Amino acid sequence: MDLFEYQGKQYFARFGIAVSPGDVADTVDEALAVAERVGYPVVVKAQVKVGGRGKAGGVKLAANADEVRQHAGTILGLDIKGHVVKRLWVERASDISKEYYASFTLDRPNKVHLGMLSAQGGVEIEQVAEENPSAIAFLSIDPVVGLDLATARRWVAEANLDEEARAQAAELLVKLYTCYVEGDCDLAEVNPLILTPEGTVHALDAKVTLDDNAAYRHPEWEEYRATETEDPREQLAREKGLNYIGLDGTVGIIANGAGLAMSTLDVVNQVGGSAANFLDIGGGANADVMAAALEVINSDPKVSAIFVNIFGGITRVDEVARGVLDALARVDISSPIVLRLDGTNAVEGRALLADHLSDTLITEPTMLDAARRAVELARA
Ligand code: GDP
Ligand code: MN
Repeated sequence: MDLFEYQGKQYFARFGIAVSPGDVADTVDEALAVAERVGYPVVVKAQVKVGGRGKAGGVKLAANADEVRQHAGTILGLDIKGHVVKRLWVERASDISKEYYASFTLDRPNKVHLGMLSAQGGVEIEQVAEENPSAIAFLSIDPVVGLDLATARRWVAEANLDEEARAQAAELLVKLYTCYVEGDCDLAEVNPLILTPEGTVHALDAKVTLDDNAAYRHPEWEEYRATETEDPREQLAREKGLNYIGLDGTVGIIANGAGLAMSTLDVVNQVGGSAANFLDIGGGANADVMAAALEVINSDPKVSAIFVNIFGGITRVDEVARGVLDALARVDISSPIVLRLDGTNAVEGRALLADHLSDTLITEPTMLDAARRAVELARA
């Protein structure tokens, strides 16, 4: 789960990482109130879960109340790369003499944590990586060993941070690492990490991705869920324990196994259609799971045909067929369903369905045939 900048900064603050004083605002008046409280000049920042807000006009300095009113008014409702701004973060503006970049993330192939640090911050790190890769100091961290202050000190020197920033930056990086590990982040990124003319170092931006697999030990993450602008279909699917990802097309997809589900999307595309979702019902294709899957897909107003693609392995096709029939008795489905059932006990499965086939419950012998039929029905 990605956090908004303000949530990331609050998360950082719990681990003692220095951020600017500020608060959220959902209206121009609230923005004014925060500005009066933290003191001018302030910076008014769009809260959207997408990078490059600055360039898109979503980050503005304001020297007085008039400017806050003006900028808050413009930024609220602004569309930044498809994300409409509903909330602002207003914080005391900092003077900047240097912008650095710092992050921790997973280096999955090497099973270690990866720190990235650069004296060239403020721009996207991908751009630095492309144009000047030697400007990034990479640090592999054995999770068992962790990151100590001595290592962090060598690291800030290697990254060529300015002398006067090094001691504070090293301390901040150790805290950021603690936040990343103990806070169960997949990513903790600060860009820019700044050095002010007064010689203090602090985080001006926060990009935090929490590891959803660790949610069970963080009941406090519930508040982040509440502000998540989640696709209602995905929300329903999560409540039902399904492995579902919403897409934009018109053919609802149900398949068993992630590989088969992805192939199903490809085949639907190949025959000129577009998938409404990815949905892997795994090995447990019983009536409950099938009913839940059909219900989620049925809730999607864009769906106009459903393609159920099952290859029986350990899951037996006759059980799947029973599941489909049982589910249809429970859920009123508004789109035609095309089934491709193959693999273990396919003959028995198809026999079970034989008496129930109609214009809206169709079987096809192959994946390609079924995809063609579903796409055709979706267009009709
Ligand atoms: P992003 O564009 O979404 O990454 O948003 P950031 O929070 O990183 O802000 C973008 C840029 O705005 C930063 O790189 C800074 O150059 C500038 N900026 C943000 N906050 C301040 C501030 O308090 N003072 C000044 N002078 N510039 C700021
Ligand atoms: Mn940034």
